[in-house]
Amino acid sequence: MHGFASRTHCRWHGAHTSRQDRANFSGLKFSAFIRAPLGRCARAGHSERRSLKRSSSMTRWIDNPEINPTWAVVHAHENARRLEAGVSPSIQADEKVMPETIAATAGTPIEQLQILHQRIAPIYKAIGPFTACRRACSSCCYYKVDVYPLEAELIAQSLDLPLPSLPASHQPGHGRRCPFLTKKATCGIYAVRPMVCRQHVMLTETNYWCLAARAHQVKLPLMRLTGIDEAFVEIVKRDGRSQPSQIRDLRDYFPTSPVTSSAGESLSP
Ligand code: SF4
Repeated sequence: MHGFASRTHCRWHGAHTSRQDRANFSGLKFSAFIRAPLGRCARAGHSERRSLKRSSSMTRWIDNPEINPTWAVVHAHENARRLEAGVSPSIQADEKVMPETIAATAGTPIEQLQILHQRIAPIYKAIGPFTACRRACSSCCYYKVDVYPLEAELIAQSLDLPLPSLPASHQPGHGRRCPFLTKKATCGIYAVRPMVCRQHVMLTETNYWCLAARAHQVKLPLMRLTGIDEAFVEIVKRDGRSQPSQIRDLRDYFPTSPVTSSAGESLSP
C-alpha cells in the first residue's frame, strides 16, 4: 500500500536512513503518525527574525509559537491533515503508483533515477505550500546527506567527473555544511541532488527547529511519501548496491565541491 504516510527517516541520528529500513514501513495513515526528529529546510530565517524582535521569552513565544516545541508538534500534525486534504487526488494517485510507473520505464538504473527525479518534481511542488521548506533555506544542508553509490555516480556524471568508487571514509555529517551549498544558500546540484534531500519535508510553520543546533532537541513529524520511497528502493536494488554498508555521506564522495569551491567546513546555519 502506497501513498502519503508517516516517515521515520532521520538525517540527524542516521539510524533510519537506509532505504531498506524505510521500505519496511508500509502505508501508515498520514494523519496518524509519530515521526522521527525534525525536518527540513524552511522559510529562511523567518522565525528567527520574528523571535528576535522582542527580548522577553514570553513575547518571543507570542511572536513565534513554534519556539514552544509542543505547539510545533501540534501544528505539524494539523498541517499533515491539511496537506492530505488539500493535495489533489490526481497528485496523490500519481504518488501512489510511482513504483509501477518507474518499473514500466526502460533504461539503466541511473536513467530510471533521473526519470524518478522528473516524475516526483510535480508532486513535491504540489506539497510545497503546506510545508515550511522554502528556497534559500539551507538548514537541512548541515545534516547528514546519505547517498547510495548510484546517486553519487549521477552527481559525478552531471559534473563531468570520473565515476567515484565507494569511499572508505565515513564522515560525520551532522553540523557540517554540505559542500554543494552555494553562497546564496541554494543547492549547487539541484537537478541531481540526492533523494534524501528531496524527501526531507518539514511540516512545521517555520524552520525554527530545523537548525542543526536544535535538530536533536524535539521530535517532529516529517512527511513520508511511501510510493516514492518504494520506487527509489527498487531502483537502488536493481542497481545492486543497496546495502546499508554501501551508504556514505555525500561529503565522503565530494569533500569539496567543484560547483561551490567550498569545503565541508563545520558551521552552524
Ligand atoms: S545536495 Fe543540495 S539540497 Fe542536499 S544538502 Fe547539499 S546543498 Fe543541500
